[in-house]
Amino acid sequence: MFKIIKKDAITKARAGIIETPHGIIETPAYAIVGTHGQIKCLPPSRIPETKTNLVMANTYHLWQDFKDPKGEIANLPKIQKLFGENMPTITDSGGFQVFSHGFGREHGVGKLSNFFPADQAKVRPLTDKGRTLEFRPDKNLVKITEEGAFFQDQFLGPALSIQIQEKLGADLILAFDECTSPHHDYEYTKAAMERTHRWARICLQTHTRKDQILYGIVQGGEFKDLREESAKFINSLPFGGIAIGGSLGRSRSGMFDVLRWAISHLDESRPRHFLGIGKIDDIFESVELGIDTFDCVIPTREARHGRIYTKKGHLDITKGKFQDDQSKLEQDCQCTTCDVVSKAELHRLFKSKDLLAGENATVHNVYFFNNLMTETREAIKNDRLPELKKEYLQPFRGEN
Ligand SMILES: [Zn+2]
Repeated sequence: MFKIIKKDAITKARAGIIETPHGIIETPAYAIVGTHGQIKCLPPSRIPETKTNLVMANTYHLWQDFKDPKGEIANLPKIQKLFGENMPTITDSGGFQVFSHGFGREHGVGKLSNFFPADQAKVRPLTDKGRTLEFRPDKNLVKITEEGAFFQDQFLGPALSIQIQEKLGADLILAFDECTSPHHDYEYTKAAMERTHRWARICLQTHTRKDQILYGIVQGGEFKDLREESAKFINSLPFGGIAIGGSLGRSRSGMFDVLRWAISHLDESRPRHFLGIGKIDDIFESVELGIDTFDCVIPTREARHGRIYTKKGHLDITKGKFQDDQSKLEQDCQCTTCDVVSKAELHRLFKSKDLLAGENATVHNVYFFNNLMTETREAIKNDRLPELKKEYLQPFRGEN
């Protein structure tokens, strides 16, 4: 159940709540990622110290971790047990990781990585800016059919993805979609989008748990007419929420065009998730366009490398200049790391490769991002989102 509490006066931002059996998600919210059902360097007992409102795990990894040798999913654990806390959870469909096994990895597409079905490539070479990309048939490549994706002697499709996600029992779950890469042309992106639409219906038909909110996913790559068509179609189906996924174009501004095209065709009453986005400036831009939740590994991954977020910018705590600096990581931070660990102490922990280095840094960074979301929600409620955005973006300009 999603309720909008306050709409921003100038932008399309909204503050709201998503009610789940495991608590209320206040939105806009940042899903902290724990790929295998555990947030790296953050023991479950310390999660409550970080104001975490929503945690995300990856269906593909949990499926691989816990299915039995015959591939049966009967023994998959409840996701709430893994995170060790009674808090709202979200799982992705597993599609993204499956498709990453294929094409994207071979051609270095990176995070928006994708697959390429072997038989398609043979009949229609893929081109990138006039250059034909080499296609190397390999057993790791993913083969897409109407049923789903075949890879490494395994199969994942829309019905199975939903069955796995019902077993894991997250509060928010995602439909199985076919991600496309920025290298895919219009023709292929359209075919993949249409397949995603057919899979969307299968996901809805398969889904039985009324206590979960199933999100449909808008695809269509960087093409305006496809994004609009996909948004209209997914919006017409009885999904509980809508996510924007897939290739978001080749540039940051292109990414927000994609978001704008899609959101303009979504009704206001359902929560919207933006997949894999979470830099500070991207958070503000997305919230202003009407996104309610997103997920990203930035807070946790950067923490493990000693990159500390503060309102004045980043600190690379491993640098020698912090060796004797007894001040707090951030002066007015209320997190439990800042209560007890100075810059000098955290520097020393990183230098000695102490396990508490990553843990303390993760508590602080996760708290920082969750606190940013608290302030964002308050700013929407008080019509001061532009001021907050300015405060945060000034120190991070060009480097976040
Ligand atoms: Zn702190």
